[in-house]
Amino acid sequence: MKTQFKKARTRAQIEADPRVEEIWNEGEDGWWAMLRPGWVVATYEVHCIHEYTIEGVCDKLNDYVTPCDCEQSCKTKEVK
Ligand SMILES: [Zn+2]
Repeated sequence: MKTQFKKARTRAQIEADPRVEEIWNEGEDGWWAMLRPGWVVATYEVHCIHEYTIEGVCDKLNDYVTPCDCEQSCKTKEVK
């Protein structure tokens, strides 16, 4: 199953993406984007994106986020 989402290029587009719960900046530590339950960064098997640039967050969101139904983080939480 291939899911189609509009490619994100800006912070506003990341915030508007239905797969993203929240995005915030930690200064020197860069950007963090928490995914909603049901989504995972496939390559890393983590439920949030950490990058130093918005561009990096966009690339991960566009290319690596896939549906997830893991017991620990996704199945136990209710998807809004
Ligand atoms: Zn999961």
